[in-house]
Amino acid sequence: MKALIIMLLLILNSAESYAKASTCYGTTASGRLENGVRLPAKGKNFVGYSTAARLAGRTYVHSSVKDIILAAYGELESEQPDKVFKYAETGLKEGGEFKPHKTHTNGISVDFMTPVKNAKGKSVHLPTHIFNRLGYDIEFDSEGIYEGLEIDYEAMAAHIAILHKQAKRMGFDIWRVIFDPQLQPNLFETRYGAYLKKNVQFSKKRSWVRHDEHYHIDFSIPCQ
Ligand SMILES: [Zn+2]
Repeated sequence: MKALIIMLLLILNSAESYAKASTCYGTTASGRLENGVRLPAKGKNFVGYSTAARLAGRTYVHSSVKDIILAAYGELESEQPDKVFKYAETGLKEGGEFKPHKTHTNGISVDFMTPVKNAKGKSVHLPTHIFNRLGYDIEFDSEGIYEGLEIDYEAMAAHIAILHKQAKRMGFDIWRVIFDPQLQPNLFETRYGAYLKKNVQFSKKRSWVRHDEHYHIDFSIPCQ
């Protein structure tokens, strides 16, 4: 009897911890997601943008995208130990239309808040709350400054380069990065610039909203 209970517990436990792989369908603009998984609220060097949005189910992704994101944060702990990161909107558990976004429908699109430094050069988070539409209302000036916070291009370039590296390591890729074309040259001046130029495709035209307070990444994951 005791053995049976232990066996049952083992089976239940493994069913719980064994997350089924997600399946994405269609395109980022018109698709859906099966077995979407939620990003953790926070980790050692990262946080989500909003508890309310998390509880509302707005931080689901494809399981492979979650693996890539978490592996990248892990690598950043040693690669950029003093930097902190914040992710933003991803998508719904089952995918589908995700207002106000035009994409984010199949679990492979992720927004990240732009890393910033304060006046002392310390890595800090962009403030995200209900009064600035969870951060999306923030506008940097042409120098990359917002209320005394300066865009940390080194941290951002490292993040994108490492996301790409981890995606490749797992057999995937980054399809594209959307970030304000006028600010992009600053990324290429960091020590990750050559890697980014060679490996990552950045949007060249202005998109429907200015992407300065966040950068949007579409991962390249095979969908049905
Ligand atoms: Zn986006």
